Amino acid sequence: MIVDRQGRRFRNLRVSLTAACNYACTYCVPDGKRLVAAQDELSADSLARGVAYLIEAAGIERLRITGGEPLVSQRLEGFLAAVARLDLDDISLTTNGQLLARKLPQLQAAGIRRLNISLDTLDPQAFRRIARGGDLASVLAGMEQAGALGMHIKVNMVPMRGQNLDQVLPLLDYCLARGFELRFIELMRMGHLARDHNAFLQQFVGLDQLLTLIAAQHAFVQVDAPPGATALRYQVPGKGHFGVIANESVPFCRSCSRLRLSSTGWLHGCLSSGNRHYIGDLLEKPRHQALPALQRLLVKALADKQELAFSGDVMVMKVIGG
Ligand code: SAM
Repeated sequence: MIVDRQGRRFRNLRVSLTAACNYACTYCVPDGKRLVAAQDELSADSLARGVAYLIEAAGIERLRITGGEPLVSQRLEGFLAAVARLDLDDISLTTNGQLLARKLPQLQAAGIRRLNISLDTLDPQAFRRIARGGDLASVLAGMEQAGALGMHIKVNMVPMRGQNLDQVLPLLDYCLARGFELRFIELMRMGHLARDHNAFLQQFVGLDQLLTLIAAQHAFVQVDAPPGATALRYQVPGKGHFGVIANESVPFCRSCSRLRLSSTGWLHGCLSSGNRHYIGDLLEKPRHQALPALQRLLVKALADKQELAFSGDVMVMKVIGG
């Protein structure tokens, strides 16, 4: 197993099925231009082979399928079928939920039981302003259908000053009422926000401010999070839980176990590092040739992790898989 000086190793793999997305969220892309699929995206089989090799070479235990928007990808069906054959107990998917209702049968058939759905507001106008695409009613319908099927749902919200702070309590109430776990993600200095400090600082809402807002309406206590978890977890007694991924306020780099594989075959050991390592060519080689080379690249990818705190990078989240 590849372990660094801080005792960190890769356990959680995020695979971006495509860089394409049907939204163009303000915090993700600067100019409202939707990202399209790269010309050189790998096939579903190659990406699934990447997962299989990484399970062996890095000891990956959990897989999250992401993007871009994974539900727009033509590779979804083939990839789900291929990874279902691998020895992984935990396969989950992150989506903006726009196409969820129609893709649910496929996800269910592939054994996906856990979904993270990104939703920044329950206000249709603010929704269109932030996502610059999509339709709120379709997202809510898909989410409620998934909930009715017994899927475990976490909702991701990025709270931003001047954009959706008035939605913190309505979204929390919406989630608590349905047994969904709301997770607030502190705005990250990624993509254009890594360059434009003013835009970042104007919108950033930290843990303390967020908890003060919530405390105005709900009593809550902090509870233990599972080992290696990135979110701080809170219980609203008798009602449910919520979480905060406090990248800036309480950085979790010291225990980060994430590895990312892009749709074009690049490994990223850290969101905050511009370094990446190409494995697309290795995935066409037989296992006995690929694994030693892969292990050498994994040592480099692990060394890319920051020691303490997330500092951001100009990479766009959709390209590497948020
Ligand atoms: N399309 C899928 C979705 O919307 O969930 C998956 C990809 S998206 C990049 C994954 C997550 O990254 C979303 O929850 C989104 O809110 C988050 N994200 C993207 N850019 C961010 C930023 N600058 N700061 C915080 N979260 C960000």
